[in-house]
Amino acid sequence: MAQSVLTIDLGAICANWRALAAMNDGETAAVVKANAYGLGAAKVAKALADEGARTFFVAQAEEGVSLRGALGSGPKIYVFGGHMDGDADLIRQADLVPMINSIDQMLRHVEALPGHPFGIQLDSGMNRLGMEPAEWSALREIALSQNPVLVMSHLACADDASHGMNEFQLQTFRQMTDGIDAPRSLAATGGVVMGAAYHFDMTRPGIGLYGGLPFVEARPVVSLSIPVIQVRDVNPGESVGYGNSWVARVQSRIATISAGYADGIIRAMGPKAHVWAGETRCKIVGRISMDLIGVDVGPVKDMPDRVELMGRHQSIDTLADAAGTIGYEILTSLGTRYARTYIST
Ligand SMILES: *Cc1c(COP(=O)(O)O)cnc(C)c1O
Repeated sequence: MAQSVLTIDLGAICANWRALAAMNDGETAAVVKANAYGLGAAKVAKALADEGARTFFVAQAEEGVSLRGALGSGPKIYVFGGHMDGDADLIRQADLVPMINSIDQMLRHVEALPGHPFGIQLDSGMNRLGMEPAEWSALREIALSQNPVLVMSHLACADDASHGMNEFQLQTFRQMTDGIDAPRSLAATGGVVMGAAYHFDMTRPGIGLYGGLPFVEARPVVSLSIPVIQVRDVNPGESVGYGNSWVARVQSRIATISAGYADGIIRAMGPKAHVWAGETRCKIVGRISMDLIGVDVGPVKDMPDRVELMGRHQSIDTLADAAGTIGYEILTSLGTRYARTYIST
């Protein structure tokens, strides 16, 4: 079998959720947008609901509809994108809570679904989503009189606790919301880690649940095991892969493994990335192909049938560094060709 196996540890996700929840006094929601960062929203959300999570966040109403199908009634499902044109039926039928981002969305919502719960998203400086201070001043009294179920904002630089933007956004959010009755939320994973000042009534971790930075203590969640198809000896001066980008300087042993950029293994990581053969770290050599990768297995004593790209030896953030990206993109790039196995340890 040449199919790689992606193992997703739901027990580790639940343990990470519990650990993040233990760090703050308010409610800890779970962000499961983008199919739970590529790991399978239905399975992940059900495991977290069993663990005690009561509130979930998605980006788009359509994601909320399929999540509602998986979770059934009960858990709250909030939609960051708010109430978009054409969403009213989805929001009503799937009992979603749109996070209203603008006066336009507010008008659309109260017109289409009067009395249907909503939240408010404020822009405290990121300039991505939410009402800006002036817009909020104009709408605030009317909006609050409709009893929003949550008022939230999002931090732009929470992956770097020392960044001055965090304090600036905290003060802005406070100025915009101090004294209101509605529950407030500012922190994603980075905000949870930064401490109590950022926690308010609800936190919204995503990446920390899935084993990524900035939650340093996170338990790893994914492992990827890739079959070795072939091993060959390569003489000095011979090359490996497209473009002859790697040339053997010495007598080498090269394994060809069965995964590639079509599986979300980002081509740009090639020159810097490693895989693990048992306990031995091996360099990726040559260009990453669509379905295949070359690996220098010279140091390996007993060649195993499979090698590991991520897991116990190598985190998603180590891989992300090799690719010049972030753990979030490593996870959400994971392809559809893997045999996905869910375990709970
Ligand atoms: C994605 C997202 C989160 C979760 O962020 P993490 O960094 O993955 O914890 C929280 N809030 C908003 C608004 C988001 O877009």
